[in-house]
Amino acid sequence: MLFDTHVHLNADQFEEDLEQTIERAHEAGVQYMTVVGFDRKTIPKAIEIAETYDHIYAAVGWHPVDAVDMTEADLDWIEELSLHPKVVAIGEMGLDYHWDKSPADVQKEVFRKQIRLAKKVNMPIIIHNREATDDIVEILKEEEASEVGGIMHCYSGPVETAKECIDMNFMISLGGPVTFKNAKLPKEVAEAIDLKHLLIETDCPFLAPHPNRGKRNEPAYVQLVAEQIAELKGISYEEVSQVTTSNALEFFRIQA
Ligand SMILES: [Zn+2]
Repeated sequence: MLFDTHVHLNADQFEEDLEQTIERAHEAGVQYMTVVGFDRKTIPKAIEIAETYDHIYAAVGWHPVDAVDMTEADLDWIEELSLHPKVVAIGEMGLDYHWDKSPADVQKEVFRKQIRLAKKVNMPIIIHNREATDDIVEILKEEEASEVGGIMHCYSGPVETAKECIDMNFMISLGGPVTFKNAKLPKEVAEAIDLKHLLIETDCPFLAPHPNRGKRNEPAYVQLVAEQIAELKGISYEEVSQVTTSNALEFFRIQA
């Protein structure tokens, strides 16, 4: 049994075949999923999917790329939704220095506000990081995010930083890139970090694992991520699926 901890089944790419996509996931042994909503359009859709399907949960937050658009009303809305029985985390949130829609100082402010909100409602956070590792780690420290902990989603940084995050009560989630031939860092992390700190994810429809790289990604492919981690660690696929699933259930505080 597998738990895909980061999916965007709420994206337009799944509008036509959501039902079949979830069926294919079940056939591949992926029973649990967390659908991540990150703006006014994707949050209600994440909640709707979580309400419709057993074993599918939702996370709600505001994406750093769109930080300039977030209002106080949006923040209140996220706080309200945190009470929903199928909402299991706040996020994704974080910093993204690849795109320049939102200036860094605005992103940082919106990131800090969401960490404070998560602490107020006592929920873990999901971190999106693109080219901003140092600033993210600094803010997590300053805001004492260790109090709630969280997930470093689709982690692609060095082993040292992963350890620093684990010390702050964070899980390291590996996605499709760990299967890419040239992805040195995610492979090093898969080898070096104890399985008890690892989660797996697809981030679908993005970042499809090898040999589906470049195609639309979907939760069934999280199997490929688990297989790659098993190979790198020299352990069985069953062990990887069992431990990462129980890690995720515990992390999201789900009674299985
Ligand atoms: Zn995402």
